[in-house]
Amino acid sequence: MKYILSESWGKDSLALLLRLIEEKRPLDYVVFFDTGMEYQSIYHNMEKARKLISDYGAELVVIKPDNNWLFDMLIRPVKYKSKEGEHYGYEWCGGRCRWRTSDKIKLIQKFLDSIDDEYTQYLGIAADEPDRIKYENGKVYPLVDWNMTEKDCLEYCYNKGWNWLEGNVELYSILDRVSCWCCGNKNLSELRNMYHNLPEYWGYLKGLQSRIDRPFYCDKTIFDLEDRFKLEDAQMSIFDYIQ
Ligand code: SF4
Repeated sequence: MKYILSESWGKDSLALLLRLIEEKRPLDYVVFFDTGMEYQSIYHNMEKARKLISDYGAELVVIKPDNNWLFDMLIRPVKYKSKEGEHYGYEWCGGRCRWRTSDKIKLIQKFLDSIDDEYTQYLGIAADEPDRIKYENGKVYPLVDWNMTEKDCLEYCYNKGWNWLEGNVELYSILDRVSCWCCGNKNLSELRNMYHNLPEYWGYLKGLQSRIDRPFYCDKTIFDLEDRFKLEDAQMSIFDYIQ
């Protein structure tokens, strides 16, 4: 039997890795699918964990998609049943069009199929996410068994000396989920926080939007959102002045 942890380096799956090691549970592979668009702190945490994993006798496996992100997003010829003519690139990933998630599922399954043994998959789903639990294909959910909620996982990681710092900004203080920095599933509050706190990544989003017609959030492009956030800031300053 092989034991495989699916790792994203977010708070839940990192807490799972740390506690599996703390509890001396069996672990053979730590598998990370690298979309290529992760925050730098995600790559930092992966490098920080590398020695921990090898000292424990497990192997870190980094799986990458066949094509780089920008090729699939902007260049690849795409045929849509609903659209006529030529179209290039899948554009934003998120919502109903999670094209990179499809690659992730397919390539992780390919890795699992290559294992010449039975296997158990540890998944970092927290105890307060019951809708995401499916007991199939050797999947187990230790965080649920340990009754660790998302909040518990974050505290556990912080207490063990881990963080998700981008400069001096802790990502979990401004984002609900630390996923790809260009994820189309971000909500308005997360986008506002990115605009205010992560100007470098916000600039990258503008760069992508300058090559993509489709809006990023509802019917708003990144440029529309920036106008909105600027207006909000201006209104707040006037309000401060009047007071
Ligand atoms: S986190 Fe978002 S952008 Fe990244 S693969 Fe998943 S759906 Fe796509």
